[in-house]
Amino acid sequence: ASPSAAAAPRPAVGRGPLLPVVGASTTVPLVGGTSRTYANLDCAASAPALESVAARVAEVLPLYASVHRGAGYLSQVSTALFEASRQAVARFVGAREDDVCVVTRNTTDSLNLLAGVVPDGGRVLVLDVEHHANLLPWVQRCTGTHAGETRTATVLTLRPTVAATLAALRDELARRPYALLTITGASNVTGEALPLEEVVTLAHAAGTRVAVDGAQLVPHRGFSLAATGVDYVAFSGHKTYAPYGAGALVGRRDWLDTGTPYLAGGGAVRDVRPDRTLWQPAPARHEAGSPNVIGAIALAQACETLAELPTGALEAHEQELRARLVDGLTGIEGVRVARIWPDSPDPVGVVTFTVADLNPGLVAAYLSAEHGIGVRDGRFCAHPLLAHLGASQGAIRASIGVGTTAEHVDRLVAAVAALVARGA
Ligand code: PLP
Repeated sequence: ASPSAAAAPRPAVGRGPLLPVVGASTTVPLVGGTSRTYANLDCAASAPALESVAARVAEVLPLYASVHRGAGYLSQVSTALFEASRQAVARFVGAREDDVCVVTRNTTDSLNLLAGVVPDGGRVLVLDVEHHANLLPWVQRCTGTHAGETRTATVLTLRPTVAATLAALRDELARRPYALLTITGASNVTGEALPLEEVVTLAHAAGTRVAVDGAQLVPHRGFSLAATGVDYVAFSGHKTYAPYGAGALVGRRDWLDTGTPYLAGGGAVRDVRPDRTLWQPAPARHEAGSPNVIGAIALAQACETLAELPTGALEAHEQELRARLVDGLTGIEGVRVARIWPDSPDPVGVVTFTVADLNPGLVAAYLSAEHGIGVRDGRFCAHPLLAHLGASQGAIRASIGVGTTAEHVDRLVAAVAALVARGA
């Protein structure tokens, strides 16, 4: 299609938000002194909080007191709320009865924690498709560079198709024993992933556990440890429509019960003497220091609100808006939408693109300044993947959440088309 055809305004009808989020009517200044309602298309970075989450935080803020230690009534209430939140978060990701839910700060924290409890001598397999949060902890903590630890990590290069990548994984798992395969549930660059059930089947057949970086999967699709057989999942509150500062690692108890405590300090220990320390089992073992009680309660509320959606509603909302966005962008001359694999199934609502040879940073600045649209530009903490995609200079990423509307998507498509038509 020609740029001018694509630039013709589409009627801003269609989907409204799936759930109410705070700040949806925030206006932002534009060049020229006008202003416009913000179109937040950067939900993959941090998603706006649900209104239900904001209400819950306001409700519990007056109640909080020290957890696990205090004898007072409010300490008991706070402890009960914190522990109930842990249960709600575990339920949301379909935890098995014996799984442990450690409250962490975010996905990065969760994956670093997991990297520290892989049994000594264990090998870890990871693909170079990953966000740095699911690449660097393994490379750094499992290559002999981390004091006294003897794990090893292998980084496998992705192949041009899903089928070829699965075959490469199968071959590598057959070549030598791996303790763990750690893999993204959905790419933060393209929304794509390998089919999880197949990954689990081939890993378990080789005696290898599977960890999923769920940062972009858990907020956007129903996910269940029990149903998929995945052994560990990590995710972040601030991408799951809760505020910053709380995340989770949920999964098999044995490594978490016996592995090196993530942080040393109060709350993680049973008894300390001058000559030895007795550590608690998980989750307390990895939660030294005063926890983020309000963050955990907020995350649990987000999980509960998402879980109350009718089956398939989340997927339908994202799939419709993603298709609208991809159709609109690919109809514009010079716009290239990135894909890792031509045969990957059902990506989540993350779309990365380039506009002819325009500098991604300038395109993103134009979208903000002239149209009030928030996107992200750069290499998205996934430098090896961007190199694979031929976008080492960076790209632009638009990402969808429950607060995204058809108007946001249409505004972005029209703005990009107008930029191209301008011959910028
Ligand atoms: N993994 C993926 C796929 C991500 O998209 C992100 C953040 O963008 C992370 C991990 C890291 O998340 P956090 O910054 O919350 O630790």
